Amino acid sequence: MSILIEDCSILDEGSPYGLKENVNIVVQGSRIANITTSPINKAGVERIIHGKGRLAMPGLVNAHAHSPETYLRGRTEQVPLELWLFDFFSSGVRFSPRENYLAALIGAAEMLRTGATSVLDHFWVNGGMTIEDLDAVMEAYRDAGIRAAVAPLVEDLRPELEAAIKSDPELASGSVDHDSALDVPHYLDTLEAFFETWHGAENGRLRCLAGPSGPQWCSEGVLHGSAEIASKYQSGLHMHADETKLQALLCREIYGRSSISHLHEQGLLGPHVSLAHCVWSDDQDMEILAETGATVVHNPSSNLKLGSGFAPILDMNERGVSLAIGADGSASSDNHVLFDIMKLTGLIHSAREVDHRRWLSARDVVTMGTTGGARALGFAEELGQLKPGMLADIVLLRLDTTFFTPLNDAFRQLVYCENGSSVQTVIVDGKIVVEDSKLVSVDQESALAEARELWAKRREAILPLDGDSLKIFRAMERFQAEQSAREFYLSRH
Ligand SMILES: [Zn+2]
Repeated sequence: MSILIEDCSILDEGSPYGLKENVNIVVQGSRIANITTSPINKAGVERIIHGKGRLAMPGLVNAHAHSPETYLRGRTEQVPLELWLFDFFSSGVRFSPRENYLAALIGAAEMLRTGATSVLDHFWVNGGMTIEDLDAVMEAYRDAGIRAAVAPLVEDLRPELEAAIKSDPELASGSVDHDSALDVPHYLDTLEAFFETWHGAENGRLRCLAGPSGPQWCSEGVLHGSAEIASKYQSGLHMHADETKLQALLCREIYGRSSISHLHEQGLLGPHVSLAHCVWSDDQDMEILAETGATVVHNPSSNLKLGSGFAPILDMNERGVSLAIGADGSASSDNHVLFDIMKLTGLIHSAREVDHRRWLSARDVVTMGTTGGARALGFAEELGQLKPGMLADIVLLRLDTTFFTPLNDAFRQLVYCENGSSVQTVIVDGKIVVEDSKLVSVDQESALAEARELWAKRREAILPLDGDSLKIFRAMERFQAEQSAREFYLSRH
């Protein structure tokens, strides 16, 4: 397929108002073949898109998501991470492969329609993960036409739960069953089968990553076992790190050092690794992150909603840490609109820094949302910019909407004005997936109708906590409050 986007505008730092006009973009197959202000020979072009009054930009990258949480939008508020996890994970409800398919499809539809062309899905299953679950989520991304890297989330330790139980006299006596043992060899076999089937599928549009949940939640067997499988397929690792104060304290108790130092000592960091959150990272952690080339995925909406804190993004940016952005799961952040995430990223760090010269610029934020995310997914140097040879993931926005009228600076208006509703056309891997602001790759309405029907039954099955679950929840609530109130100073300049 060859596509010509004729006479559009593109982002350009050197041009007045951050915008270069009268640009022609030629897409051949899955890549950008040419981008020029010179006339284009239209012979052989299969599809012409009129770009006059449109801004073409690289597709945004959502570098941290959990697709099953599409069903959990709006279920919780006023709770920190350690408590919301109980809302669903103690219910015993396990989604079917079809439910997982629909959750990923609906999330992809929301992202594509609002200008995100890639997602890193840290995909979880409540209970043992099977290859059928993983097939379902990959099939959803295949059908939706979004670029996706999927990291099957795994954990075999729950130190915060153990500590909370130990701190409660009744629970500490051992009468409550809370065991959730993982069959590690089985998990690693499943992960390997997943890589074998899906890594590089759909012309490379779909990738596999290993997804240990987080350093404190995984034994060395899980961490190193999954890292070895990823390395065998020249892929990488994605995990949570330093999301909450409780985690930062626990890691220091368990390992005698921070989670980032622990990962570094284990030889598990590098340019192929991305870490979501890093809210509680200190100076030494940031040095390690910059030196190893690991990417930090900033999740401002989730960090705010769960009260996790403010990640030291300004420090990381100045130290040369690779930065990306993510919406996180919809249970803790509620939507997948990357323009919301860009705006929060641009805004929230300024209020905590007296030196305004250190604040993030809109250009910094756009870089995080494009090339930064591309690196996290394993597409560094191939994705995130409109240049010949790059993968053709292109979003066209109308410039005649209120958000861009009048135009003063394209970068700033993208970050601070736009909300995704100006998105008109979306191309992923050289294929049109959104046209006239409508998803054309799949039938969104029937997927939504089916999900509503399935969830109406599921919702009834998720009962309020009672019995032992409620006792553990109360113990965790006390433990979380106690730990969060502890004095803890991070070494930051
Ligand atoms: Zn997460």
